[in-house]
Amino acid sequence: MRGAMMDTQLDLQVLRLRAERFHRDVGIVTRTADGLARATFGDVLDRANRLAHVLTDLGVRRGERVATMCWNTQAHLEAYVAVPCMGAVLHTLNFRLPSDHIVQIVNAGEDRVILVDATTRPIIDAIRSQLPTVERIIVIPDDYDLLLADASDDPYPWPDLDEDDAAAMCFTSGTTGEPKGVVYSHRSVMLHAMALLQTDTFGVGRRDVILPVVPMFHVNAWGFPYAALLSGAPLVMPGPFLQPDALADLIESERVTVAAGVPTIWFGLIEELDRNRRDTSSLRCVPCGGAAIPETLMSDFDRVVGEGVLVHAWGMTETSPIASVATLPAEADDWSPEDRLRRRLRQGSAILGAEIRLWSLDGAEAPWDGEAIGEIEVRGPWVASSYLGGQDAERFAGGWFRTGDVAVGYPDGTFQIVDRTKDVIKSGGEWISSVELEGTILKHPAVRESAVVGRPDEKWSERPIAFAVLRPDEALTIADLRDWLEAHVPRFWLPDDLIVVDEIPKTGTGKIDKKALRLADQARAR
Ligand code: AMP
Repeated sequence: MRGAMMDTQLDLQVLRLRAERFHRDVGIVTRTADGLARATFGDVLDRANRLAHVLTDLGVRRGERVATMCWNTQAHLEAYVAVPCMGAVLHTLNFRLPSDHIVQIVNAGEDRVILVDATTRPIIDAIRSQLPTVERIIVIPDDYDLLLADASDDPYPWPDLDEDDAAAMCFTSGTTGEPKGVVYSHRSVMLHAMALLQTDTFGVGRRDVILPVVPMFHVNAWGFPYAALLSGAPLVMPGPFLQPDALADLIESERVTVAAGVPTIWFGLIEELDRNRRDTSSLRCVPCGGAAIPETLMSDFDRVVGEGVLVHAWGMTETSPIASVATLPAEADDWSPEDRLRRRLRQGSAILGAEIRLWSLDGAEAPWDGEAIGEIEVRGPWVASSYLGGQDAERFAGGWFRTGDVAVGYPDGTFQIVDRTKDVIKSGGEWISSVELEGTILKHPAVRESAVVGRPDEKWSERPIAFAVLRPDEALTIADLRDWLEAHVPRFWLPDDLIVVDEIPKTGTGKIDKKALRLADQARAR
């Protein structure tokens, strides 16, 4: 027997209509060079209506790509609504990528129009001649405001959409190869946004005030802009002002409850809070992912902001991105603070809607016994089923996506990432987790930042070497580091070398660039 229920489309019109009906008065504030610009979701929706007219007049048709190269701002949110709801596809561009990657990505997306912030415009101007599909570049605010002012404010004839149509597109950073395009559907964006509202994900609701620090060009700012429109939570947009004091100002003045960003952002905030008294008491949930949260960051955040506020989450461009969250069960109230901390440092367990399994490196499902390691495989309605253009089809074979992240699973369903398959170090037949070694080195009082990579070794096949940025006026030798580390890690994990640097190279998405570090190490050896 078939179910007999309605088959309405789960598309972004549902979100737009809901925001229109219930959330017009909800506030959005954007930090600009001239101070805070305040508006409402009603303003955003009205301007999105005009933007849809503008893009239609420019000839953008259903399924065609409109790109953005913008910070987190109100205008960017307007594009988030207008472009998918008119049936076109929002292609967010990461302006921190090398320009040859941006060229490749715009051309692969066949973008017709690019909305660009005045501050990031030089990046596009420099590559303009290499972008044959781009017919129009609209600079925000100048061109954009003029076009919107001239546009019709008649209700836009929003089309009926198919929930499986493309809504948005984002390319992975391509540190380990060519950039690859992930095409989100209306249904996947909606289900993912709804998942952020689940209590045991982040429980986003109308009483929240959301500060997405994670860029809107990186996996739709982890879905928070859409979650805000859906739930009626006010949005606080930092624009390009991501310095710790600027973020602390916003948290204080807007009474932010949910702020999402990568570990580096929160390291900076903690340094600011240690220097200056700030009122961060409004924060209840700070989702953090993109890289593992080091123990020092988690315990500092607990001390300075409050226990449990920093919440570890894991995901990827291919998983929209949120796939797991580390929330605690009720019985954790009776655990020791150390046990709670240890559990929260794991990447958590699959959120409702995502399924995760571990596949051992020798080709069988790995047990969740707290010891065996395996590659994380994931599936669900907001997990990619292929890349644009069909690259790497083998990663999607069998209905699961092979993530390239390696983890240990525990009997309670939580897991901890130990490495990327490409970064895990194999020494004398044993695995060394570069991520765990980095986290341990970071606990050394002289170390401000650390990174570990494998160096090819004839005898052991690979040996770990450490890169470190030191705190001001500190010194550290490999002998000191090894002596200190001996109490914390197995002997065979002790790095063979320490390279003190001024800066750890990062990729366009802010992750440690291990490829660059390996090359730097090889160059030194020559
Ligand atoms: P991206 O597609 O750029 O968002 O990068 C996704 C990758 O970031 C994942 O495959 C992981 O390697 C890494 N990552 C994301 N979240 C975490 C986390 N909580 N802990 C460790 N690594 C993470």
